[in-house]
Amino acid sequence: MKEDILHNLALINDRIKKSCIKAGRNTDEVRLLLATKTVSAERIKMALENGQILIGENKVQELKEKYEDLQQIPHENHFIGHLQTNKIKDILRYDVTCIQSLDRWDLAEKLHQRLLAENKTIEVLIQVNTSDEESKFGTDPAQTIELIKKISALSTIKIKGLMTIGLFSAETEKVRACFKILKNLQQEIMHENIQHVEMKELSMGMSGDLETAIEEGATIVRVGTAVFGTRIYPDSYYWNEGKENKE
Ligand SMILES: *Cc1c(COP(=O)(O)O)cnc(C)c1O
Repeated sequence: MKEDILHNLALINDRIKKSCIKAGRNTDEVRLLLATKTVSAERIKMALENGQILIGENKVQELKEKYEDLQQIPHENHFIGHLQTNKIKDILRYDVTCIQSLDRWDLAEKLHQRLLAENKTIEVLIQVNTSDEESKFGTDPAQTIELIKKISALSTIKIKGLMTIGLFSAETEKVRACFKILKNLQQEIMHENIQHVEMKELSMGMSGDLETAIEEGATIVRVGTAVFGTRIYPDSYYWNEGKENKE
């Protein structure tokens, strides 16, 4: 089991390296985030003990369950799942340094209120829906700049870049189009020179499409299956949940 994880990590790091070389980029420009939904703390530790640093959960409940077990070992925690406003208070308890999935104003506003009350700040990425699929969260690309301008006025929230989930398709060029939308948005936003907004991070690319994402400029790739194996729950459990709740 441990051997599998270490072997898979070596394969992923090799894929990242090869993609960087192909794209003429330095390997250290791309960070590997381990998407750890459904993965036990014990198995996450095997990766952390072998040089991995960055992990990401989709659900506050899982963050909570694994928190104590993972505390003994240095790592960085991002949140990559859909965040419901009623979970804001909880998420701030578990040392999440970056919420990659901020995608709407009411969430930003409530997060800001809570951060103010706790005298904290947090880094975020703005999640963009680049695949035009109903089933995925994220702001509409056409509305992203307006949203970022509004959020930039909130002193506790530090925008560091953009995140997206690419289209699930075997057709690489269709997937690439999603990543290009994110890259183009990044460039546009940089040109706007919005105060307090940084655009250094592009979180895109997963087990199946990280090569394409790196070619298109990813600085963080989020990998789950290719390291930990297939999950029991379908991703729709993580990506559609809450949509009907009309937050
Ligand atoms: C699960 C998940 C990933 C990783 O997906 P894999 O295909 O297992 O590599 C990446 N990003 C998000 C937001 C996820 O929920």
